[in-house]
Amino acid sequence: MHHFYYINRELYCENVPLARIAAQVGTPFYLYSHATLSRHFRTFTAAFEGFSHLVCFAVKANGNLAILRLFAQLGGGADIVSGGELYRALKAGVEPKKVVYSGVGKKPAEIRFALKTGILMFNIESSQELAAISRIAGRLKTKAPIALRINPNIDPKTHPYISTGLKKNKFGINIDQALQDYRRAVTLPHLEVVGVACHIGSQITELAPFLEAVARLKDLIRQLEREGIHIRYLDLGGGLGITYDQERPPHPQEYGAALRKALEGLKITLILEPGRVLAGNAGILVTRVLYTKDTEDKHFIIVDAGMNDLARPSLYGSYHGIWPVVKKDCPTITASLVGPICESGDFLAKNRKMPAFQPQDLVAVMSSGAYGFSMSSNYNARPRVAEILVKDNDFYVIRKRETYRHLIRGESIPDFLRNSP
Ligand SMILES: *Cc1c(COP(=O)(O)O)cnc(C)c1O
Repeated sequence: MHHFYYINRELYCENVPLARIAAQVGTPFYLYSHATLSRHFRTFTAAFEGFSHLVCFAVKANGNLAILRLFAQLGGGADIVSGGELYRALKAGVEPKKVVYSGVGKKPAEIRFALKTGILMFNIESSQELAAISRIAGRLKTKAPIALRINPNIDPKTHPYISTGLKKNKFGINIDQALQDYRRAVTLPHLEVVGVACHIGSQITELAPFLEAVARLKDLIRQLEREGIHIRYLDLGGGLGITYDQERPPHPQEYGAALRKALEGLKITLILEPGRVLAGNAGILVTRVLYTKDTEDKHFIIVDAGMNDLARPSLYGSYHGIWPVVKKDCPTITASLVGPICESGDFLAKNRKMPAFQPQDLVAVMSSGAYGFSMSSNYNARPRVAEILVKDNDFYVIRKRETYRHLIRGESIPDFLRNSP
């Protein structure tokens, strides 16, 4: 469900025609719908009504301050994976006590920052990290609230790059070793064990892997209780999939109902870390056709956005719907939509049926609200694109397009290179 639709063959976001935004801000740009983001958050949190829970939006999916703020105003927290994401979350007004910190490589300075902030909990991913957090908390004369992120060894049946809960992945602590680490954690005076966490992967389109994870974590929680280790928070991570093409993921309501049923009788607060399901279909990338080019056996449509702006197709071979911003009477052809980057992997859609776009046409690359802008880079010295938020009849620039000046910010030429050649 989203708020991008055609009125008289023109694509709108809520009540604003995309062509009007393109004329004012130029292309390419990311565009998000306020109504869709709010609706997704409300639907998701409503699915857990009656069960104590906290929805921590995964900042890495889309870290724009306006979007973090929007979710924070609806009561959401943040799932962060770096000091930079903590900084963003705080700047956006997320309450520290609603922040959970995941990630296999937390640095000492990042741990200190999170301890001083007073976050809800650290999701610890290794025995060495456990020791490091305990040591740093000791030096700061404080206590770190922690969960262990468990690797439950479950196949989420998604793309190998975005599955994270298998034994062979780098994430989490092997479930067989977890008990031992918990026993150790409770003996450390500067740690406070508060939770159990997991995150098994992303773009998961079935309930079964989530339920398997819950079953294993429930067993672990019971085992811990028997040993007198009380668990307050069960963090099930994110990972619920969305429809990019033909996928039929469970509706958040089904997901919520199934999880609530599986957790019946357990006295814990459930934490969820959705990213993609909240933001993915709430955003698009709008780009303009520069040229078309026909080779012996291929049609190329060259647009002004590339893999540096939207990496997912190149990185995962992922599918994004390609919609014309203005529908015209033109034939459908099989073509590849490619960017200006000097890499053959630079495509937004490969060998796909699409309208025979012409130079100057505007194209909407759908379902780009998660892992779109947040994964973008300056590769090929391309300034990062603008981000726009539409609400009802208006649009707001929530991140200005970068200029060439941004590209060289912080760089300097050492004195020994200063003489003219
Ligand atoms: C990436 C990530 C998420 C969000 O995943 P989605 O598939 O976008 O919901 C949540 N938790 C952790 C620990 C992550 O790494």
